[in-house]
Amino acid sequence: MQKKSTSTTSIIHSDYLAPEGFAALPTAIHHASTVLFKDVAAMRARRWQDKSAYTYGLHGTPTSFTLEARLAEIEQGNYCLLAPSGLAAITLVDMALLQSGDDVLIPENVYNPSRELGDWLARSFGISVRYYDPMIGAGIAELILANTKLIWTEAPGSVSMEVPDIPAICTAAHARGVLVAIDNTWSGGIAFSAFEHGVDIIMQALTKYQSGGSDVLMGAVITKDLALNMRLQAAHMRLGFGVGMDDVYLVLRNLPTLKLRFDAHDASARKIATWLQTRPEINQVLHPALADCPGHAIWKRDFTGAGGLFSVLFDVSYSEAQTDQFVNQLKLFKIGFSWGGAHSLCVPYRIQQMRSNWPHQGILVRFNIGLEDTGDLIADIEQALTSICE
Ligand SMILES: *Cc1c(COP(=O)(O)O)cnc(C)c1O
Repeated sequence: MQKKSTSTTSIIHSDYLAPEGFAALPTAIHHASTVLFKDVAAMRARRWQDKSAYTYGLHGTPTSFTLEARLAEIEQGNYCLLAPSGLAAITLVDMALLQSGDDVLIPENVYNPSRELGDWLARSFGISVRYYDPMIGAGIAELILANTKLIWTEAPGSVSMEVPDIPAICTAAHARGVLVAIDNTWSGGIAFSAFEHGVDIIMQALTKYQSGGSDVLMGAVITKDLALNMRLQAAHMRLGFGVGMDDVYLVLRNLPTLKLRFDAHDASARKIATWLQTRPEINQVLHPALADCPGHAIWKRDFTGAGGLFSVLFDVSYSEAQTDQFVNQLKLFKIGFSWGGAHSLCVPYRIQQMRSNWPHQGILVRFNIGLEDTGDLIADIEQALTSICE
């Protein structure tokens, strides 16, 4: 018996230490819930907020600290917090910065689950949540109330593709001491310098371009200001928003190709969008780099790229049954939410239900242009369009 318990212990405890000095290009995957301290004094002296050392797995390991630092660099910020999904990152911002009695402004065309969250904050947490026309620009000044604490923006809206005037919104907000957050997912953090254009908080769904593999859910909240980061960090801890280090590694692994992939999506999407403009079945192509898109001039002024996501409006003569058939007929384009991966995707949306004064006609279909051959994707769309005309 004695022998057996000794052997169990020796399986758990080992004096072996791998030699130091290992150098390689990938970031190591450090898994941990428990983080060790050398003695009680070191444990007592450690502050979980201080990211120059380690406290507990929830607050991060070298692996997650590395991804946070690299994302902050990409967005030209100073601090970054990872969340278990893009939506969790949005929740983190709202929970950190809003309390009962506060007011928040959210664009009407916002990523829909963010609106679900807003409705819940209004219903159950005593927060005033108002939705505004994303094309309001400087006019947002008239909506700011004494208790307005936060203005959300999304550039562009990821379904309607409307490009808001971020600098105008930020100027109006800052004149009244209101913080501005942006969902910067569409630009991948590389086609729009959100901090340079005035925002205080950048939210990213790393699920999209940063992961690039359609296999990870993760989000990030990036800031420049220490005090603001500390407010977010406190909420991050209270909400218990830990991330898995294997997932963090998947994002780190694909980060070096972020710009190459983004530019490839961008080039292919622009070719396909331009081709779609010539099609009689399509009434309007909502691609920020094309003149037909609401806010195109703002995109041209503020953005350096466009990525792979855009929408089209079918000619009014097409019924929803026909546009549904179009989507069903696509072979290379799969039907599914999300974007930023190698596979092309297509989803129809009922835009009139998302936007109160949607001024355009025709059924909206959104494309995520993947990394397949552009000619093959055009041929696929062409055969699906032909099928609904028959
Ligand atoms: C996907 C997405 C999110 C949410 O990201 P998840 O990781 O899927 O929760 C938020 N905003 C935009 C614009 C997105 O496209």
